[in-house]
Amino acid sequence: MIIVMKPEATQAEIDHIVETIVSLGLRPHISRGETRTIIGAIGDESPLRAKPLAGFPGVESVTEIQKPYKLASRQLRPEPTLINVNGVSVGGPQVHVIAGPCSVETREGAIEIAEAVRAAGATMLRGGAFKPRTSPYSFQGLGEEGLKILAEARERTGLPIVTEVMDPRQVELVEQYADVLQIGARNVQNFNLLKEVGLSAKPVFLKRGLSTTLQEFLMSAEYVMSQGNPQVILCERGIRTFETAMRHTLDIAAVAWLKAESHLPVFIDPSHAAGLYRWVDSLARAAVAAGADGLMIEVHPRPEEALSDGAQALIPSRFRSLMQELRPIAEAIGRSL
Ligand code: PEP
Ligand code: MN
Repeated sequence: MIIVMKPEATQAEIDHIVETIVSLGLRPHISRGETRTIIGAIGDESPLRAKPLAGFPGVESVTEIQKPYKLASRQLRPEPTLINVNGVSVGGPQVHVIAGPCSVETREGAIEIAEAVRAAGATMLRGGAFKPRTSPYSFQGLGEEGLKILAEARERTGLPIVTEVMDPRQVELVEQYADVLQIGARNVQNFNLLKEVGLSAKPVFLKRGLSTTLQEFLMSAEYVMSQGNPQVILCERGIRTFETAMRHTLDIAAVAWLKAESHLPVFIDPSHAAGLYRWVDSLARAAVAAGADGLMIEVHPRPEEALSDGAQALIPSRFRSLMQELRPIAEAIGRSL
């Protein structure tokens, strides 16, 4: 339920509503806009319906949240959520690019890539230390050693780190190193993992699954948020359709729909959608034009030697020229990059 307060509502009137919500076993969510405070009541709404809330002092209107996602919905929070990642503001006018290798492979390699992507204008560094691989015989990542390398790359470049956590038991370890916790496509409905990162103070980069509907995707965000962590970044990375020409089908429409339905920042990962470096530039340009708040792009100086996803990695020079192409596109829609 959403309780919109009058512009002149006093703090005592706001507190009274919040206390009523809490006393009925619901969780209050307060959103202070420029002129009005909006209070959401999350949980079983039936006891609240029995209260004549619309007549409480300071209340302007009361509406039910029709959507199954509450905290993630635009209805509850009309203005976009800004997420601060070590001083990098995600979800605002600047389009951010998270770039780096698929996997952290060596210390020297990771630092070389971090320096290259930073010089090209990336504002965050990616790299997997725990890798979700289709085959148990493929490279599984360096584990904690990889996290230490990422931390060193951050020290050298100042770039915040985005890295995947695959298991609820790893969250405590990964959050010691990471600035943003990535949940991979294959774990988008691992509800125990979502609840665990929902208890973290670190922002969560949530990737859409291969066959997750957009509504299910927002419900996954809701799992994280329901535990008290409001800092969720959504990422479309290609879905499975009948089309097999590319690795996955990039659902560019997801940007428009998610931004309309939710206040959370929306990113696009063209690398995993394409599966091949040749298609990445075009998908990235489309993503920025569509209004994505950021991109995640895989970069490797020697793709043929990469231990995972080499075929889709951009070499640093190509990444640099892509970044230059993206800037005027961002500017054309009133943003920067
Ligand atoms: C990745 O980002 O390296 C990754 C494994 O992505 P996804 O979960 O989208 O497949
Ligand atoms: Mn990858």
